[in-house]
Amino acid sequence: MEKVTMENFHSKNDNALFEKIFFSVYEELPRQGPGNASSAARALELCRNLPSSPVILDMGCGVGGQTIQLAELLPAASITAIDTHAPGIARLQKTVRERGLQDRIVAIEGDMADPAILPGRFDLLWSEGALYNLGLHRVLLRCYELLHPGGYLAFSDAIWRKKNPPPEVKASFDLDYPEMGWLQDDLTLINVSGLDLVGHFTLPDEAWWDDFYTPMETRIQELRRVRAGEPEALAVLDLLAREPDMHRHYQDFYCYEFFVARRPL
Ligand code: SAM
Repeated sequence: MEKVTMENFHSKNDNALFEKIFFSVYEELPRQGPGNASSAARALELCRNLPSSPVILDMGCGVGGQTIQLAELLPAASITAIDTHAPGIARLQKTVRERGLQDRIVAIEGDMADPAILPGRFDLLWSEGALYNLGLHRVLLRCYELLHPGGYLAFSDAIWRKKNPPPEVKASFDLDYPEMGWLQDDLTLINVSGLDLVGHFTLPDEAWWDDFYTPMETRIQELRRVRAGEPEALAVLDLLAREPDMHRHYQDFYCYEFFVARRPL
């Protein structure tokens, strides 16, 4: 049998196996991207004078790690969490039932760009690491419509912070987020979308590790044991292990920035 290496894995075109293993890693994580409760709290502090029972939409919620944190930070909020990935929504629905939060969180499988989501309805739009999937400019215009005047948008987004990234880093972001820009690019898009910037800050390194890369590396190790003797599966796991390792070595080149903006009154 031909030996499977990183280099020839993609040419074998085994996307089904890649997807299966990718999701069996990602769906088990507390979050599907960088973020943590203290960063959420810091972003929320920028959202001054929210109503006492704010109506919130969590866009691209994944398995809902940040949805639950938001519900804890804002005990009277009602939150709709939306994601296209059905297993993530099923996991969030289970968490909501287990925690008795059914009155406060509704998790729905759907597209955050769905025109049926009512414009002008929300006090706060929240999105960690997900808006870029729709193209930042397009989705910021949509966010403007979804907010009522004075409503807030809090979102995190990957940006470059150092020129001439190593080829491995460039290739990784070219694949996942080819339009990724610099801080000024995101600030400009916020501005031309009609939103007022309230503030922004860089996610600390622990927000990459505590709920994301550390459990990811643990899960990859676990699956390496389960899949021992399956070279193609192990090659996929090696590919997935590259991401946290890349971050360990090259985090100076990119970061996640949390932005808070407001639709003008
Ligand atoms: N916010 C979560 C977190 O930080 O853990 C998940 C972040 S993950 C990087 C991006 C999420 O966006 C994925 O769960 C993906 O399914 C979701 N997504 C992508 N396009 C979407 C769309 N058009 N509507 C809703 N969710 C979408």
